[in-house]
Order: sequence, then C-alpha cells, then structure tokens
Amino acid sequence: MLITLQRIVESVNQAPEFDVALNTMVRSVKAALGSDVCSVYLADPEQREFVLMASDGLTIPKGKRITLAYGEGLISLAAQREEPLNLANATTHPNFKLVKEVNETAYRAMLVAPIIHQRKVLGVLAVQQVEARAFTGEEESFVVTLAAQLAAVIAHAEAKGLIADPQSPWLKKLKAIPGAPGVALGEPYVGRPIASLRSIVPRRTETPWREIHRFRKAVLLTRQELKRLAEQVADYVADDTLAIFDVYQGLLDATSLGNAVEEKIKEGWRAQTAVKMAVDGFVSQFEDLDDAYLRERAVDVRDLGERILGHLKDRKKIHNEIPDSCILVAEEVTASMLAEIPRNRLQGLISLRGSANSHAAIMARSMGIAAVFGIEDVPLSYFEEQYLIVDGYSGEIFVNPPSQVVAEYQNLQLEEQELSETVAQHRHKKAETKDGLAISLQINAGLNVDHGKLCGEHQGIGLYRTEIPFMMRERFPTESEQYDLYREVFEHYPKVPVVMRTLDVGGDKPLPYFPISEENPFLGWRGIRMTLDHPEIFLVQVRAMIRANIGYDNLKILLPMITSVEEVDEAARLINQAYFEVRNEWVQQHPKSTVNRPELGVMIEVPAVLYQLEAIARRVDFFSVGTNDLTQYMLAVDRNNPRVAQLYEAYHPAVLNALQDIVETCQKLGKPVSVCGELAGDPGGAILLLSMGYRTLSMSEHNLDKIRWIVRNLESKVLQVILTQALNAKHPDQVRKVLTMKLESLGLGGFVRAGK
Ligand code: PEP
Ligand code: MG
Repeated sequence: MLITLQRIVESVNQAPEFDVALNTMVRSVKAALGSDVCSVYLADPEQREFVLMASDGLTIPKGKRITLAYGEGLISLAAQREEPLNLANATTHPNFKLVKEVNETAYRAMLVAPIIHQRKVLGVLAVQQVEARAFTGEEESFVVTLAAQLAAVIAHAEAKGLIADPQSPWLKKLKAIPGAPGVALGEPYVGRPIASLRSIVPRRTETPWREIHRFRKAVLLTRQELKRLAEQVADYVADDTLAIFDVYQGLLDATSLGNAVEEKIKEGWRAQTAVKMAVDGFVSQFEDLDDAYLRERAVDVRDLGERILGHLKDRKKIHNEIPDSCILVAEEVTASMLAEIPRNRLQGLISLRGSANSHAAIMARSMGIAAVFGIEDVPLSYFEEQYLIVDGYSGEIFVNPPSQVVAEYQNLQLEEQELSETVAQHRHKKAETKDGLAISLQINAGLNVDHGKLCGEHQGIGLYRTEIPFMMRERFPTESEQYDLYREVFEHYPKVPVVMRTLDVGGDKPLPYFPISEENPFLGWRGIRMTLDHPEIFLVQVRAMIRANIGYDNLKILLPMITSVEEVDEAARLINQAYFEVRNEWVQQHPKSTVNRPELGVMIEVPAVLYQLEAIARRVDFFSVGTNDLTQYMLAVDRNNPRVAQLYEAYHPAVLNALQDIVETCQKLGKPVSVCGELAGDPGGAILLLSMGYRTLSMSEHNLDKIRWIVRNLESKVLQVILTQALNAKHPDQVRKVLTMKLESLGLGGFVRAGK
C-alpha cells in the first residue's frame, strides 16, 4: 500500500493544473480501493457550502455547481468533527443526505476523510461503494493519509488564486509573497531579457582570438551600460543598494565570470556559447546553496549574462511603451531591469520568481515601491494588457479589479502618501515624547540597504551586521580587506556610536566556502560558538575593527549568540589580546598617540542569558536584545520555516514578559540595554518596548521616520496604561488589538494593515 500511496502522491504533485490534480486523486483512490466512487468536496466559506469539485463515479452535470450547505449531510459531519467517518451503510445514518443531481441512490458504504491544512478544514475526500461494508482500518488510514497530502495541494492552489472565488467570479486575485510594503495601481510593463541564454545553440569556433576580442568588447559595453543605469538611480536609492551595480561590475572582472568565459572560448567555443556555459556553471553553483540570500545571486549572474549576450548580438533594446503608471512584471525582476524604468512612472513590481531576499526586493524597499514575488505557476502573458493592483503588504495581486476595489486602493494609496509625508516632516527633529522623554533611535546596517543616506536624525549604528562581506566572497576576507570595509563605516559615521557585531554565521547564514552540515543549524554551530572555535578568524576580525576605529573612538563590539559566561570570558580574552596587539603596533609607530579599548556588549537572544544577566553584566559594558532570535528560541519556532510561521509571535506573552524582565534587571544592574531585533522597528513593538522602559531602539532605516513620529506623538503616562494591558493579555491578538487602537488614535492605522 505504501508504494501505491507514494505513486498517487507523486502523480498528484506532478499534475500540471489544479483540476488535473484533483481528478488524478479521485481516479487513483477509487482504483486503489476498488470502490465505486471517490469524490473531492471543497469548502466555500463565503457561501457556507461544500462544492463537489471532482469525482470518479458521480457525474457532475456540465456547468452546474453541485453543493451541500454547511451542516448538511455526512460531508459536513466529517468536516465539523475533523475526523473520518467510516459507515457500513450510510443511508441509515440520520445525517445522510441524498444529492439527487448526481444520482447517489445506489451507494451504501461510505468513508469520508476531512482535508485539513494548518487547522483549517478545506474540504473532504469521500469514498463510496454500492455494497454495504465497513472499510478496513488500513483503507481508512490510506484515505486519511491522502487527504492530508491533498490538503497541501489545495492550500497551494488557493494561495495561487487557482480556485475560482465563487462569490466574485470577476475578481481575479492572486496570492504572492510580499517583498516590499506599499500599494500600487497601474498597467503592466512586461520586462523581458534583451537576449535569452536559453535559446543559445552550442557552436564551436576556429578563431578563438576573434571571439575573445568580441567578448571583451561586449563586456566593455555592458560595463558602460551598468554605469549609466547606476547613475540613473543614484539619486533615489541608498549607497549600499547602489553597491548591487558594483557586484555586477565585480562579476565582470577577469577573475570572475570574465575568466570563466575566456577559458571556454579557448577550449574552442564561440563567445555566445561560452557565455552561456560560464553563466550556467555559476548559476548552478549559486542555486545549490542553502542560503536564500546567496541563492538569489544566481539571478544577477543570469541577468548579466543576458546583457553581455545582447551586446554580442548587437541587439538594441526595443522598448515597449512604458505606461505612465507602470507595474513592472517579469519572470525574474532584476535590479538592472528596475533601474531602466523612470522612477516617476514606476509604481510597483511583480516578479514571478524570486523572494524577499532578491536584490530587486532590496532595491524596491529602498525606493519605496510595492513589490510581490513568487507566483511561478502564472504565465507572464496573463498580465499583459490588464489593469493591476499590487498589495505589497499582503502579497495580493488584483487583475482587472472592479471599480470599488480600485477606489478602495486609491484611497489607501492616498492615505499612505499622506502618512509618509506626515512622518517625514519630523525627519530632522529629535525623537522625544510629548512630555520630553528622549529616546535614542539608531539604525541597523550591514545588509545591502540601510546606509543612513535617506534617513534623518539618528543616534548611531545600533547593529552593524558583518556577515554579508564574508558571504559575498570565495574565502574569508583578510584583515586588510575587513579594515577597508570597517574604516568606510567609521568615515561615514564618525561622531556617533557604531556597534559592530562579530561574525554571526551559521543558522540560515552559511558561508559558501566553509560549509557546515547540521541537522539543526539554528541550534548548532552559529555565531560566537563558531568564532570561538576559530580564534584565528575572530582575532583577525576584531583586530580589523579596532584598527579601523583608530582616530574615531566610537566602536562598540557586540557578541552574538552568547549562551554562557564562559563564552563571554573567552571572547573578552581574545578581544583584549587583539587590542593589545593593535595598540602596541600603533604606539610603536606613533609614540605619542594612544588607542582606546572598545566597549564590549552581549546580545540577549538565547533565553539562557536571561538567567545569567548579573554575572555577564559584571563582564560587559552593554546589552542589546535580538528579538528575532529571542522569539525563535523562546517559542521553539524556526524563524525561517513557513509551516510554523503562525507560531512565530513576538507579541507572545512569554516573549513580552522576558523583555520586561530584561529591561528591569538591566536597570537594576545599571547596564545600558537596547533592542536591535525587528520588533524595535515595528510600530506596535516600538510602543511596547518604550512602555517597558527601553530607551534605545535600533531598526532598519526605512522604519526610522515612522518610529520617530510615533515617539513624538506619545505621552509617557499613556505608555503605562498600554503596558498594563499588554502584560495582562493572555493572547498575542489581544496585545495587537491594544496597540492597533493606540496607533489608530495616533492616525497611524495605515502602518499596521500588514499585521497578522
Ligand atoms: C536578532 O536576532 O534579533 C538580531 C538582531 O540578529 P539577526 O537577525 O541578525 O539574527
Ligand atoms: Mg540574532
């Protein structure tokens, strides 16, 4: 039976369309059990009925909708009880209801299994037989197992909008992954690559030197094109986002893609073929990586390859008319594609492939453009000549929506615009409450966005993540490479504190050149655990930080993933060693000068630290709470696993109480504490943290205006009321309600639309 089951699951999963999947399921189950009928009913919560979607045995009249109201029949009973019904003679059951249109009279035996996905009953799978008989336990569990498999297929189809919305057949709504907040309305501009690598047929050459010459010329033209694109967007994207174009230029270097292409040409391949081969090689290397951020780099390589190809073929880009209010739709939106559309016309973007980690998503966020990703089952042509709405908060796309929906979204857009203008007005003002309580707002940097160019007043870098430069290379960066990177940060922020975190790789941030294979990477060799096992890596990084800070004296070093006092002692010992080395070297060369020792801090993100605060406080200068990991570890919910995403809840009472305990203990110990996890940049979260007593919040740059505005509109006495209500709540939704009410009263309801 296991083999039959696996075969059915495989063929259902491979079905090209949803209808085919359902029909495959009913046909296979009926055949496997030797029954007379197998059917799938799906729930329609709007109409409160079950709809017969597919059947092998019952005849569904063409164009007719066969339904059973909620509460009717054994179908409803199984769904309501959320357990299977196995009846030898269903016709004698008080709930039995005959569906006349499909001529059900003859069947006695019935086995009904509910189809449940993430606690929600999506429908039922029903098997019927003419003769009266009880299905065996094995048959029952066979159907239950298949119903559970079918649940995932249905949930997937639902998310993709493939199940017609019966109440509003004219409203086509697709569900994608939200990538950048905001709403956008407009006509599509379908972005297609200038030349496609896929269409290249491999060809050989007798004159490789000529091909190398052609290739180098194409590279030169590609470089110029990228430079032009970078200049076009330079005014409205952050410096680090612009670095995407440097990444492209770097890939073109002789040591990278350029070298690989020339090698292939020397082997006797024509330039076009060599580009395709080299790009395919790079792409598959990137796509094999576990890390989502690095996997996305495959897109950049392919985009670059297609640009070179365009120049090799000397194909000029033929621009379709770009609509005035345009939504860029492409198989895979690339950063350079995005740069090609004039900013004043670009409203939003839909990328059929990709995720919130792509460079396009990073750019969209920094440009303030609504963006959604990942609806691979829908062809590009589907969007052509349609009117579109993109909801970057929920991930929804409306295709040719009715006028009421358009009006609703136009209003939202207007509200959003007003809101951003409102909060930006206070951009250069202090973050202090109405009654004068000063709050220190800092920014999280180190990822591609967030470089302080677009934001106003802030009090420094509360978290500088150092992982990315390590991840973008083919080996550990040297001390001098790290020195250059960190020096640039201090030059950029000479007068405010800069909290640099030591390397926090592992978990979901593996290094491609230092693979770590673990069953549970988040509970494994991560952050300080890895770097303490490799003092040579740790010392080089700390030395680079201290050296880069000479003359600025605003460095604070932060240790990630600390679990024990021992780790703090060991890290402090190594930092001391690095400090004395750097100081001695420096003082030898500059006898009259000195090098100051940086402050040391620990991240509170592993719950064990909560019970060792006193001992750790004696060893360090400050604490910083990483709510992202603290939530993950307190609730035992993998922060990257979509299946348990609903359980990842920073407003959980346990997390809130932990946060409250932390701030109280730190106050008693007289140790500064800040928050640098996502909660600090969340409007509701920031209010909660302030009400608990946190006075330093560090967040990504695009949240800064919002949070400053909230701070400036709050009064300390209100915070006390909010805190009492939040800490008394037994459920995160109650906390959310309290905060939403508060934000609405501040006129900031728009910022919480994206809430769960
Ligand atoms: C955190 O865990 O909250 C944090 C700020 O660190 P990261 O998200 O980089 O793990
Ligand atoms: Mg963390």
